[in-house]
Amino acid sequence: MEKIYMIPVNDAYSSECDCPICCLRDKAEANELDYYLGPSLMEPDTRKITNKTGFCPEHLGKLNKREANRLGLGLMLHTHLKDLRDDIAPDIEASIPSKASLFKGRSSDYKTKLNQAADKIERRVATCPICDKLNDSMMHSVEVICYMFLHDSEFKEKFIHAKSHCLPHTAMLLRAASKLSQNDAADFVAALYENNKKYFDPLIDDVEWFTLKFDYRNNDKPWGNSKNAIQRSMRFIASDRSDFDDKQTRNGK
Ligand SMILES: [Zn+2]
Ligand SMILES: [Zn+2]
Repeated sequence: MEKIYMIPVNDAYSSECDCPICCLRDKAEANELDYYLGPSLMEPDTRKITNKTGFCPEHLGKLNKREANRLGLGLMLHTHLKDLRDDIAPDIEASIPSKASLFKGRSSDYKTKLNQAADKIERRVATCPICDKLNDSMMHSVEVICYMFLHDSEFKEKFIHAKSHCLPHTAMLLRAASKLSQNDAADFVAALYENNKKYFDPLIDDVEWFTLKFDYRNNDKPWGNSKNAIQRSMRFIASDRSDFDDKQTRNGK
């Protein structure tokens, strides 16, 4: 395993994130957003891809929020919209059902055509080179994590004592473990399970205490760790997202 892959993993596990893999993903995503908003947006090779794929709804939103390279984005969207129109508009037109008449009976064919046109639109709108690259890089990261756990005792300690791993990334780690030998997988998954339990159980208590704080009899009792329990639960269930910002709790109650 090359060192260059291990450094970011080590950094993430040395930081204070709730889930180190979410940290790795956020960094990789920020790099991708920089890349697509940088000079590459004008390069013919990149344009050939983005003209065709565009970006998924989530990454369109993130590209927009950066407020950078509006001209590049505009040029990309202009070609992408034309590509979408040329691909999709004929399908929409072809899906218009012909009216049933005395000569042409009713047919349920039109339902299939309508659903096919809808499927195609949904498929095209979801296509995203940033998602593709992130999926590849996260798959690789979890393999690096397994490798380091088994070969680097210092990292193994860091893994065991990580704050937590969110559920989507726990699933990725379990999949990566399925490629290990049975004995290696036994060590790795036992550590993952202990780490998971250490966060999961208190989180449930914190959310419960958050709800109990709404009872006036608990008004003067301390919040403990429960003030951001809603956001932490969401991050744990769904992986970190900017909409799960802790500040929203403080403004709330
Ligand atoms: Zn995560
Ligand atoms: Zn995406």
